[in-house]
Amino acid sequence: MNTALGVLIRDFASAKHPYSGALPDQLAASLRQRPVCPEQGIGMAELLDFIGEAVLKHSAVVTHPACMAHLHCPPLQASLVAEALLSAVNPSMDSWDQSMSATMLEQEVIGWLCGLFGFAGRGSDGVFTSGGTQSNFMGLLLARDHYCCMRWNWNVQQRGLPPQADRLRVLCSEEAHFTVKQSAALLGLGQQSVITVPVDSKGRMHSDLLESTIARLREDELLPFVLVATAGTTDFGSIDPLPELGEAARRHGLWLHTDAAYGGALALSDQHACLLKGIALSDSITVDFHKLFYQPISCGAFLLRDRLHYRYLRLNADYLNPEADDQAGVPNLVGKSVQTTRRFDALKLYMSLQHVGRERFAAMIDHTLKLAEETAERIRQEDALELIAEPTLNAVVFRYVPSVGAEDGAGWTDELNCRIRDRLLEGGIAVVARTKAKGKACLKFTLLNPLATLQHTAGILRHVIRIGKELECQYAAELLARKGVLSHDRGTAAGTYGSFMGRGL
Ligand SMILES: *Cc1c(COP(=O)(O)O)cnc(C)c1O
Repeated sequence: MNTALGVLIRDFASAKHPYSGALPDQLAASLRQRPVCPEQGIGMAELLDFIGEAVLKHSAVVTHPACMAHLHCPPLQASLVAEALLSAVNPSMDSWDQSMSATMLEQEVIGWLCGLFGFAGRGSDGVFTSGGTQSNFMGLLLARDHYCCMRWNWNVQQRGLPPQADRLRVLCSEEAHFTVKQSAALLGLGQQSVITVPVDSKGRMHSDLLESTIARLREDELLPFVLVATAGTTDFGSIDPLPELGEAARRHGLWLHTDAAYGGALALSDQHACLLKGIALSDSITVDFHKLFYQPISCGAFLLRDRLHYRYLRLNADYLNPEADDQAGVPNLVGKSVQTTRRFDALKLYMSLQHVGRERFAAMIDHTLKLAEETAERIRQEDALELIAEPTLNAVVFRYVPSVGAEDGAGWTDELNCRIRDRLLEGGIAVVARTKAKGKACLKFTLLNPLATLQHTAGILRHVIRIGKELECQYAAELLARKGVLSHDRGTAAGTYGSFMGRGL
């Protein structure tokens, strides 16, 4: 472990750039220096040297302030310590006899989380998951099975989908995470079952349009059974109007699942917790800790207001959680999860909360939201940049706008923004994300790192503008050359244009 720490510091933590710039072929070639499974093993020091060279050196440096592409956080020290401990002790969270104290600690943390999101009383429950994908899947699964049980006294777990299944509908905003559609597909309802409600200019679900959508579905004899609210959309951090959605869900008898994978961390903040007002009206909640809670991947939770709903999931295996255990009150967590063997990820969050404390956690989160606001303001001041939307959390979406419109218009602006991102990555300047908003290719900063400052983001914006201008000049030169050739030989012109597009500028 000590040698590994040295290599980690040498080849990763002290990196000057957020990425080495290596391309896939180079990385594959360096890994091929060794057989995956040699006949005889090698010493740890030699192995660590190789891993440092081939792997650590060519990672996105999440701790670097210019690494700001995705919801991909620098992990807290306490969580790394916890990772080492939990992997060494290796409890499996499916049955109590494999994870005695770990089971109790996970349950403690779940109880605290339920309180944090306003699930008061002892009826609530939950489980640690691999992340938002699994938590959203569980929310939709329980919602589906609950509806079928209540409406038709139909046990989906036993009998599979009911005959009416093709009329079941899931409601969410058009900015909801793609895992809502994925879950619907996995649950046998098809992506066709997901009905998206339009969002307002701030990316939040229109509650009026929700009402008219429900009315239209009912007219068509379709059966909406779950409403998915998003607290923090992946691109803009938008938060749906949770109190209105909670009220609508109750009125229409819908299960309310809130996807707070991204925004859930606001619950720790004195300043921003108000943005989650109404979340307690949810029947189930997704929250991720490997995003704004600064935990190593993977770490998330699924929370359930009424633990009785876990009955739709339960199965008893004689070797793991025999029914006799249930009667004796032995806490086997396997019945709360779609996983069987499961990691003790609760320890990471627990040790981080203990070590950092709520106030400092809140200060970290508040800082990143403020940085997003300041960065957005800086973008607004630049003629060459366009801010796509006001940030709600700490994601900032913008694009470079060329000074001279090229002949292929929007296509060129899209191309330009993609090329800028590639150049930032390959040059080791910054790791930023790309996305599409309103049909346009955009750049995105996701400002999770509490050590990043306006100096860092402003510096990267200057690089964006510089690279954009350079690419524009090159393009203009290519265009002239192309026109020159065009009059002589159309074939060569096509070749020039092709090589221009393919060369990555
Ligand atoms: C990240 C994210 C997910 C998916 O979660 P994973 O942890 O990647 O499985 C779902 N919903 C939202 C809003 C997210 O930001």
